[in-house]
Amino acid sequence: MTPERCIAALKALASKWGGSVQEVDEDTFDEIEDLELAPFTGARLGVVYATKTVYYCGDVPWVDLVHEMGHVFACNETPEGSQEWDFFGWEYAIVRKLRGVKLWVRSNSGYIINKDGDTFGELSRSERQATLRERVAHAHSTGLLKNGEPQAIR
Ligand SMILES: [Zn+2]
Repeated sequence: MTPERCIAALKALASKWGGSVQEVDEDTFDEIEDLELAPFTGARLGVVYATKTVYYCGDVPWVDLVHEMGHVFACNETPEGSQEWDFFGWEYAIVRKLRGVKLWVRSNSGYIINKDGDTFGELSRSERQATLRERVAHAHSTGLLKNGEPQAIR
């Protein structure tokens, strides 16, 4: 799938869940109230948690939109207080459906996965697969995934 089609699929999913993913121009982006900016990305990207809206501006890797969607749809805490690791398996399930796992893995290479500060990108292929299996199981246990299908929990 092209990035455009993936973004269209994400927008459809967000709207089905009562929120949205919106592309805006720079001036609009700078004036959004209560916008929480996504760290660790050069992209202009952020969320308004209360309205379940992901905003972006310009070129944003579509897999990064999935992470921000996790903050508003798959997390009962605002981004500041969130445990992102809890929805890692949820993100994976979405990018897998959209055939973007390779891109997502690359985009998350610096993601800190434990208290020792190890990163996702340091894992071997088999460690990575085991980690993803564990995260998917965790997402099922918390209701973020049902029969492999990503859910919105708020
Ligand atoms: Zn985040």
